[in-house]
Amino acid sequence: MGEQTKIGWCDATWNPWRGCSKVSPGCARCYAERHESRFGTVQWGPNGTRVVTTEANWKKPLKWNREQHDRQAWCSANSSDDAPPFRVFCASLADVFEDWEGQVGHSSGLPMYVMDEPNGHPYRWAAGHVLDRMTSGRPLTLADVRQRLFELIDQTPHLTWLLLTKRPENILRFWPGNSEHTPSQMTRRNNVWLGTTIESHNDAIVRVPKLLAVAHCAAKLFLSAEPLLSGVRLDEIACENTAWPGTGQIDWLIAGCESGPQRRPMQLEWCDYLLRVCRQKNIAFFMKQMEIAGKVVTDVSEFPKELQVQEFPK
Ligand code: SF4
Repeated sequence: MGEQTKIGWCDATWNPWRGCSKVSPGCARCYAERHESRFGTVQWGPNGTRVVTTEANWKKPLKWNREQHDRQAWCSANSSDDAPPFRVFCASLADVFEDWEGQVGHSSGLPMYVMDEPNGHPYRWAAGHVLDRMTSGRPLTLADVRQRLFELIDQTPHLTWLLLTKRPENILRFWPGNSEHTPSQMTRRNNVWLGTTIESHNDAIVRVPKLLAVAHCAAKLFLSAEPLLSGVRLDEIACENTAWPGTGQIDWLIAGCESGPQRRPMQLEWCDYLLRVCRQKNIAFFMKQMEIAGKVVTDVSEFPKELQVQEFPK
């Protein structure tokens, strides 16, 4: 739920809750669903369940933030280079911008509530059995958990939060502090990088303009072409009010094949093309993984020479 990670483009993964619904072909073999089905605690889908993670998990980013602060202070005091950012991939087992209106549950299976009266919990959340003993409350929703997530993001300025979504159309509506739901009202968060998944050209056509529309609320924008299921002709995407693809609009692009059993194939020429566009538009490119001789390989030294590229945005 909040761990050091094998994902090469971040330093840790962290989840505010677990559970999601499939929205596009890239979800067909959702890693998170496979991961959760092993434990059987979360049901995927609109009529499924969402489970908030533990209080111990919610404390981890605060600890990472203190450690990163100390690293930055040490580097500054010793006149060396800036400390590298500590990138937290938020919601590898969910989608931060999912529009789901049910009652969030506890990992025990009990429903969660927001208590009417303080109960010692800073967010007044409690599972059903505590509610029975104490007082009344209302069902806990993803909106409540998302609100707390953004408070946590604001409390951890030394971390770099990577929010990757397949629902960029919801970012404007769900961005805390934006009651008008207009891009100009969105609070800018300098410790957030916002990204969307572009697993196919059809998804990219819809999602890239939605991401660009909220560009000013995050420090950087990125695209994840993983699992890459078709060629994505980035320079054919039409965006209103912006001259896409322009230089400097997108900071980073990650590409990679699907993993897991029955994975769908990725063609290297799709990656070659994306790398070429990134070079033209000054977008950092990160080749995450590809299938070689029937195995998913993440060791960049095994990639074809021209795709041995793992860059981060500056
Ligand atoms: S959006 Fe992500 S977490 Fe949700 S079903 Fe799709 S792949 Fe899984």
